Amino acid sequence: MNNISTIVFDLDGTLYEDTHHFQYYADLLKNKLPAEKQTTFEEDYKAIEAGTHTLKMGRVYDAKKDLILAHNDGKVSRGWTWGGVEVSQEELTSYYPEPLQFDLFDMLSIGDLWWVPVSIAKHYGLSSEEAYAAFLQTREHMMTDDFLLEPLAEFANVLEKLHKKYTLILMTNSPQTDSDVILKKLGFTSYFHDKIYEANKPVHTADRLSYISKEHHVPYSQMLSVGDNYINEILPAALLGCSTICIDPFNLFKESEATYTVSGLSELSKLLDKSFLK
Ligand SMILES: [Mg+2]
Repeated sequence: MNNISTIVFDLDGTLYEDTHHFQYYADLLKNKLPAEKQTTFEEDYKAIEAGTHTLKMGRVYDAKKDLILAHNDGKVSRGWTWGGVEVSQEELTSYYPEPLQFDLFDMLSIGDLWWVPVSIAKHYGLSSEEAYAAFLQTREHMMTDDFLLEPLAEFANVLEKLHKKYTLILMTNSPQTDSDVILKKLGFTSYFHDKIYEANKPVHTADRLSYISKEHHVPYSQMLSVGDNYINEILPAALLGCSTICIDPFNLFKESEATYTVSGLSELSKLLDKSFLK
């Protein structure tokens, strides 16, 4: 990675790793449920955090069939009821003859902590509309002054140095208003030479990287893509020939195309410092 000139960063889960907002989101969702279901919501949430629930990071929640699924590249390998009773292979084959197509409402890929409370809420009967309203309310809360966002000091330090030596580009699926507020809270506003909002990753990741390549006159071999979503930021960039750093806190991508894999921002800071600033 010693010829890198341009670094493309994702925003959420990449430039910060705050988790307070997930609790806020979980509370909003829980409070929309009938009182008798709020306690079991809470128990499920704790069990998932502790890793003792059938719903785990890397699995899928099929809200229509109320089943939890394990898969390889979308191909269902095992399935369970919410309570953890395994579903037979025959049933699975009849339900899922084709690879899974994930969406935001019924087939939820549990790739980060946003998806945990919404899966529980849907299991207890919350509608997609109510769940989406809670999501928007959480994003709004994150924009207010009440929501404090502290950058990881060592990462802020590395980013500050990187922006003097490299072309830094922000590429996020979030809209500009939200993203700019978050950048401001983190103190990162002046560090990016270009910002791409509503990037529509993973569908448009390759197009965006092609735009960056042309606009900034940089071949893919000199570009580094950094992100915490393997499908959005790592795989499409790797296929084009970019270097990549995958942030993988839940250890989901053991066999991956990533040039480097780190467990979080602290490890990312050390790697960037060692590889790009020495
Ligand atoms: Mg992210």
